[in-house]
Amino acid sequence: MRFYWLITLYLLGVLSVIFVVQTSTLVISLISLLTLVFMTILVLGVSIMRLNLFVTSVSKLDTTNNEMAITFDDGPSAENTPQILDILAKYNAKATFFCIGNKLSEHADILKRIIAEGHSVGNHTFEHAPTFPIWSVKKIKESIRNTDTEFTRLDVEINNLFRPPYGVTNNLVAAAIKSLDKKCIGWSIRTKDTCRTPEQVIALVKKRVKPGSIILLHDTNKYVCQELEEILKYCQAQQLNSIALS
Ligand SMILES: [Zn+2]
Repeated sequence: MRFYWLITLYLLGVLSVIFVVQTSTLVISLISLLTLVFMTILVLGVSIMRLNLFVTSVSKLDTTNNEMAITFDDGPSAENTPQILDILAKYNAKATFFCIGNKLSEHADILKRIIAEGHSVGNHTFEHAPTFPIWSVKKIKESIRNTDTEFTRLDVEINNLFRPPYGVTNNLVAAAIKSLDKKCIGWSIRTKDTCRTPEQVIALVKKRVKPGSIILLHDTNKYVCQELEEILKYCQAQQLNSIALS
């Protein structure tokens, strides 16, 4: 809805300028400037969830305790998730796994272990398609619902935690989330772990982690276990506890 207000505001601005100044190069310059500003706001709003332009998302914990949350996207992964669970258990830490629906049935045993060990899971769409944000609202809802159906079929209680692929939101994703009553979960520390070295990821987290942080990691990153171990070691020394989102 906020998106439509933004467009309306922009159009009103353009029309006002045309009426006031009428046609001149100044009008064209002003319209170009307004278009540039509008497009910049739009691109930032689509790609940065915490700006809350389209969807109100949770990008940090509302806590007064020494708590933070580690989240893992794109799993379950047979290569890494079991080892991630071992490391979490070693540090008595809890986490949240945003799972891709079409991976669930193949890794039902891992999913069961995630739940049995007190972690939480969230919906990360069924296909994790790059084109997801430009699908119709109906198709976006179907992808989210199909993932929930998989959770239910595998005896996992569904919740309202949702993370959009690539953290991209727009008015279509917003409409689908609202209609399905999902809570959009973002992050405060995007480690970019799939394209950075473990040293860079660990250094970034150590520099920025604080009470309330939500850290984004990926089950599919081959260095995730090494990074997680170092992150948890550091957080333990800082008396920061990782909790599961709910
Ligand atoms: Zn993802």
